[in-house]
Amino acid sequence: MLPTTPPPSVTPAPELPRLIVLSGPSGVGKTTVGEGLVRNPSIRRAVTATTRAPRAGEVDGREYLFLGRAAFETDIAAGRFLEHANVHGNLYGTPRDQVDAITAAGQNCLLIIDVQGAATLREQGIDALYVFLAPPSWEVLEARLRGRGTDDPEVVARRLRNAQAELGRQNEYDTVVINDDLDTAIAQIEGLAGGPGL
Ligand code: ADP
Ligand code: 5GP
Repeated sequence: MLPTTPPPSVTPAPELPRLIVLSGPSGVGKTTVGEGLVRNPSIRRAVTATTRAPRAGEVDGREYLFLGRAAFETDIAAGRFLEHANVHGNLYGTPRDQVDAITAAGQNCLLIIDVQGAATLREQGIDALYVFLAPPSWEVLEARLRGRGTDDPEVVARRLRNAQAELGRQNEYDTVVINDDLDTAIAQIEGLAGGPGL
């Protein structure tokens, strides 16, 4: 008789670290949801780079790495970005070293990037949980964008025009999460990424 072998462990092997890509139209609440997600110690947000001017209260190296156009273009040429895109007339990019440092520390890396950036990562075959954050309605999106009070009226108008196109690309994502109740949206994304402890 063959010796009985113990059943395999039912605890799945942890698959840390992984990338969580979060996209959605401007004003939908990506930053706010991201702040909630990083309260989970296993998730850290990669600080991305941009040529746009800092908003009131934004600090270089915290919200973004604020770069001049020439410095940004030098970094593109040097291959320092995992992806980069022109969003609303400014350049934005994900520095490779940000992502590498987070994953090397064994943490899940949260990337809050636009639909073009997410598509670039997907085209490169980068394994990630791709999440599209959608508003409960168009009216709510407009109200959040205007209510934030950080952008001039013409900037808001441009962001709303872009939002129409972005909302049309949500089917490219693994999942769509509606940001109606904030805590529910955060818990849904944590759950998709592997649970509260991930
Ligand atoms: P994004 O980063 O997508 O541009 P923000 O995180 O800056 O969006 O959010 C835009 C505005 O909407 C902010 O004023 C924020 O406080 C508000 N907001 C975000 N999520 C919610 C929510 N679930 N319910 C109500 N207001 C929200
Ligand atoms: P905001 O100017 O409102 O901070 O950001 C504008 C848009 O740029 C948002 O959709 C944001 O997610 C996106 N974004 C921020 N960083 C990056 C990045 O590194 N790459 C790409 N492709 N988009 C980014």
